[in-house]
Amino acid sequence: MKITDAKVFVGGPGKPYVTLKIMTDQGIYGLGDATLKSRETVTATYLENYLIPNLIGKDPRNTEDIWQFFYRGAYNRGGPIAMAAIGGIDMALWDIKAKLADLPLYQLFGGKSREGALVYGHATGSDLEDLMDSIAYYVDEGYKAVRVQCGIPGMPTASYGVSEKKGDFKNFITDFSGIHPKVEIWDTDRYMRYMPDALARIRERFGPDLKILHDVHHRLLPREAAEFAKAVEPVNLFWLEDPTPAEDQNALKLMRQHSTVPIAIGEVFNSIWDCNKLIENELIDFIRVAVTYAGGITHVKRIVDLAGLHHVRTGFHGAPSHSPLCMAAHAHLNAWAPNFGIQEYLVLGTSECDALFPSAHRMQNGMVYVSDAPGLGVDFDEKEAARYSYKPGSHPVVRLEDGTLWNY
Ligand code: MG
Repeated sequence: MKITDAKVFVGGPGKPYVTLKIMTDQGIYGLGDATLKSRETVTATYLENYLIPNLIGKDPRNTEDIWQFFYRGAYNRGGPIAMAAIGGIDMALWDIKAKLADLPLYQLFGGKSREGALVYGHATGSDLEDLMDSIAYYVDEGYKAVRVQCGIPGMPTASYGVSEKKGDFKNFITDFSGIHPKVEIWDTDRYMRYMPDALARIRERFGPDLKILHDVHHRLLPREAAEFAKAVEPVNLFWLEDPTPAEDQNALKLMRQHSTVPIAIGEVFNSIWDCNKLIENELIDFIRVAVTYAGGITHVKRIVDLAGLHHVRTGFHGAPSHSPLCMAAHAHLNAWAPNFGIQEYLVLGTSECDALFPSAHRMQNGMVYVSDAPGLGVDFDEKEAARYSYKPGSHPVVRLEDGTLWNY
């Protein structure tokens, strides 16, 4: 069996997804998501100019050797661009492998460990009252777990994950359009004074059963993160996400010494080498990698297995920039992983997206049920794809009130 061709498509409804289609001499094709948020065309070029010419003629069933070839074969290993490109290829090759076996992908990992996988939605509010309404909306929709992000009184701009506008809380997604980033102003003191009490009031209102998650989005220093974690301990959070910037694998030691709040981190990690010390030293409770960003199924499965040895559960990243192909790869891993924790889930919810990526995966009452179709269980409509073109986007940047650049 040989790979005969591969094509890259950039575009999608609202989000410029990078979709890879790998063709074989047996008529079976595989699909993968290689979208690197805000740098989409770079990954596409990396695939087209460097990786695809080396894929043609290879046996697509040799997923391990092809992964090693692209990872070790590049003198400068790793990094977000290369790993998202390798991730897209690897996902497409596993799609082919499972289609050849005529099995849903999770069967190749070891079958199902659960029927449905718990997900969490994003509740958001320009203020606490708005956020309470948003949480109530998600609870009414059947969600058992909700991430809560709140506007902070006195903060000069909206903080991470919240709208400036009152009432804008149903499936709110931050607008990243345009090549020039928006600027958010951040004030750690205001956040530290306000947010622990807001979380306590949310717990009081919604009772003990709701799983409450909160994302600090890398804004705190290690000592501040330890203080914050101590302050929110009575809230009994399901997790506290990205309390500190992720590069420093020692940063969470101080938090661990001062609190038992579960810590989730890793949505910007590209390889096992970004999180092996965090996992082995048991400094985290949930690993947040995404299949695309962390080099595909071959590599993420290795991370999941290492995590399992250290009581670390999965909580794969599920931002809107991951196409339904990446989310399908997560759904198959979530069905199998013995150390599954939770899945981030945003309702892409447009008929355009469903038309571009037809799929039988379904979400119901806060749980995702994996499709039993062979492979990833998601198709790609090239005629639909022709409707979309590339539009650049950018994450906001964060500054302190004196102008100092801070962590988004
Ligand atoms: Mg996050």
